[in-house]
Amino acid sequence: MRKRIFLSPPHLGGEEIKEVQKAIQSNWIAPAGPATALFEKKITEYNQTDYCVAVNSGTAAIHLALIVLGVEKGDEVICPTFTFAGSCNPILYQGAVPVFVDAEKESWCLDPQLLEEAIEDRIRLGKKPRAIIVVHLFGMPACMNEIRNVAKKYTIPVVEDAAEALGSVYEGQHAGTLGDIGIYSFNGNKIITTSGGGALVSCNKDWIERARYLSGQARSAVPYYHHETTGYNYQLSNISASIGIGQFSVLNERLKQKRKIFETYQSELKTHGFLFQEENSNTFSNRWITSILMPVKSKNGLNEKIRLALEGQNIESRPLWKPMHLQPAFNQYPSYLSGAAEHLFINGLCLPSGTSLSEEDQEIIIKKLIETAGYTA
Ligand SMILES: *Cc1c(COP(=O)(O)O)cnc(C)c1O
Repeated sequence: MRKRIFLSPPHLGGEEIKEVQKAIQSNWIAPAGPATALFEKKITEYNQTDYCVAVNSGTAAIHLALIVLGVEKGDEVICPTFTFAGSCNPILYQGAVPVFVDAEKESWCLDPQLLEEAIEDRIRLGKKPRAIIVVHLFGMPACMNEIRNVAKKYTIPVVEDAAEALGSVYEGQHAGTLGDIGIYSFNGNKIITTSGGGALVSCNKDWIERARYLSGQARSAVPYYHHETTGYNYQLSNISASIGIGQFSVLNERLKQKRKIFETYQSELKTHGFLFQEENSNTFSNRWITSILMPVKSKNGLNEKIRLALEGQNIESRPLWKPMHLQPAFNQYPSYLSGAAEHLFINGLCLPSGTSLSEEDQEIIIKKLIETAGYTA
C-alpha cells in the first residue's frame, strides 16, 4: 500500500531542531521563556501589528479574546455556522450563547447581510450581541469591509478567527489584524505549526496584557501567590515556541507552495465543472486547504464517492465543515440561515493540500477524481 497522503500534515523546514536544541541546552523547558517572547515578536513583525501573546492553542486564544472583551454568562456572541467547533466552543466556556449566522456564497465566510439581520433581530428580542466572531475559512478572508461596517453601526467588537489564515491578506492588511482582536492557531495541521499553539494579536495593549496575565493563572506581580481573579493555564511552552521560530523561516515558502497546489487543482479540475472558493480584488488567500464543490449538474453524493475512491488509494480527503447549527452540541441555539452552509457541507470536499505533496501525487489525486466523477456526472 502507498504511504498515506494526509490532508494537511506538518511540514518541518529544518531549522526547528536547532531552535529546540537551543531551548533544551539553555534549560528553558518551561511554559513561556525567551523563545516564546521571540515567537511573539516574529508574529507582530510579520503581521505588522502591535501586540501579541502566544498561548497553547487557537481555541484558548479565542477564549481569552472573549474574556478581555467582557463576554459573560448569558451574553450572546455571533459566530458563523460554517466553521470548526473550535470557533464557538469558547462562547460556551463563558456561559454565553452562540448565535449562528450562515455563509456568504463567494467567500464561504460570514454573510454580512444576514449578520445585520441577525443583529437587528437579537436587538428586537431584547439583547444586543456582545461580540462578533469572523472566520477566514480555509484561509479565505471574509468580506471584512461589509462586516466592519455592520459592526461599527451597532458598536459590536469583532474577533477575527484567523486560525487557518496566517499569511492571508485583505486590501493589503494581514488577516488577524482586520478586526478588534485576532487569533491564530499553530496546531499541527495549520500552515505553520508549533505542534500545538495559538496567539492573540491586537493594537489594544491593555487587552493583550490582560490576556497574558490570565493565561498564566492570573498571578499578581507579588512574591507570593496572589490571585484577584480566575486564571487559566494557557501559556505556550518555550519548546513549542522554538519549533514555531523555525517554522517562521519557511512561512513564505509554504505560502507559495499552498497557492501552487491550489492553482494546479483549479487549472485541471475547473474544466470538469468543479467549483472553487474564489479570490476577489480585495482578497489574497493562503490557500491553506483547497476545497472544491461538485459540478452543478452532478448527482448527489458525488463528493462521498470521490472521498471513498481516494480513500481506496490511501489518500485522505474530507467533507467541508458540518455546520454548527446541525451539530447535536449546538443545534439548540439561535441561527440565521440561508442554506449556504448546508449546501457547502453537502457538495464540498477538502483535498490533500500538504506542502510536502509531490507533483506526481497531486496528479494521481486529480486523475482519480476526474475518473470517479466521469462515471457519475
Ligand atoms: C484550528 C482552528 C481553531 C482552533 O485552533 P486550535 O489551535 O486547534 O485550538 C479554531 N478555529 C478554526 C477555524 C480552526 O481551523
